[in-house]
Amino acid sequence: MKIELQNLTKKFPARGKKGGEVTAVNDFSFEIPDGELIALLGPSGCGKSTTLNMICGLEKPTGGRIFFGDEDVTALAPELRGVGMVFQNYALYPHLTVRQNILFPLENLKGKDRPSKEDMNRRVTETAKLVQIEELMDRKPRELSGGQQQRVAIARALVKMPRVLLLDEPLSNLDARLRLQTREELRKIQKETGITTVFVTHDQEEAMSISDHIAVMRDGVLMQNGRPQEVYDDPANLFVARFLGTPPINVFEGRVKGEKLHIGEEAVLSVNGVPDQEVWVGIRPEGFIPRPDGELGCELSRVEVMGRDISIVSAHKACANPAIRSIINADTQIDASARTVRFSLKPGKVFLFHKQSEERLRFQMKGDSYARSK
Ligand code: ATP
Repeated sequence: MKIELQNLTKKFPARGKKGGEVTAVNDFSFEIPDGELIALLGPSGCGKSTTLNMICGLEKPTGGRIFFGDEDVTALAPELRGVGMVFQNYALYPHLTVRQNILFPLENLKGKDRPSKEDMNRRVTETAKLVQIEELMDRKPRELSGGQQQRVAIARALVKMPRVLLLDEPLSNLDARLRLQTREELRKIQKETGITTVFVTHDQEEAMSISDHIAVMRDGVLMQNGRPQEVYDDPANLFVARFLGTPPINVFEGRVKGEKLHIGEEAVLSVNGVPDQEVWVGIRPEGFIPRPDGELGCELSRVEVMGRDISIVSAHKACANPAIRSIINADTQIDASARTVRFSLKPGKVFLFHKQSEERLRFQMKGDSYARSK
């Protein structure tokens, strides 16, 4: 089921003395292709949950429309939308067994929508199998681990065979290992069922790893939408560049003069097509090549060996991050006792942003130091 959000806006009355309004979601337009898993990603308070609540019908938009396929569902009651919802706090019924918890939404169906007893039991068993909790059917929620409880919650959302599955931070109550495992299972289940799914998270790594598309939000506004790798490789603005990636992107104050990018006193890269101006420079950790004659000189703080990779931690007075982190292959020889380290830059890993608007400034990659040395 394709979902289309058209100019969706939600304003809440502000509760302070001054009155006024809070715009939680601002003119948000987005198309979710049939059968895909989309992550709504952004910092706390950016409007992710409000967007999700409007899709499921728990919140009424102040403006805009929501379509499921060709059907305008903007004014449709939540129970008629055919959505399954899973929240962060599983909200299972503590006095019911796992089987009864999963059965509950089916027993609540009325009239012609209510399946026969036999059908209900079949669907409960099938769904339990899908999320691998068949052996736990007679237990109560308190007798389950966090991961198992979350699987029951997912089964309960899936048993109604929803047109759309909505997940609001579904993994945040799980510990790190279980979180990783559950997100892989979730992805598998989503692929098997082919249900269009919207997944809310503030964890960029989680979003990158499981979704077909990512929508990055800030202050209720859609910043960028694309496949995870596209958004990482081609950020539209400084906010998106900073939000994606671990370790985070290294941001420097820089200046373009005569189509050369300067950081501090040094000309570090040719940036053809960019007029002279002050800029923000974002360099991904994998964008540095240590080299004695490299264009950018930094003070070496330390070298951390992380198995396959080496992380070089360094400093530069023009860098906005507390430390510069560059990740290089463990085969590279680095003199850890040296006071400075010099880098050449991979132009595809260097992004320029307008100093005020923080929007991306694109440059042509030719005649650069990296290409010259290859
Ligand atoms: P989090 O990750 O912390 O859950 P979020 O991105 O899901 O955040 P929302 O819960 O959608 O963000 O909130 C977006 C904005 O709208 C916030 O500024 C929030 O304070 C405000 N907001 C949300 N619900 C209401 C409400 N019922 N009344 C007033 N303001 C609200």
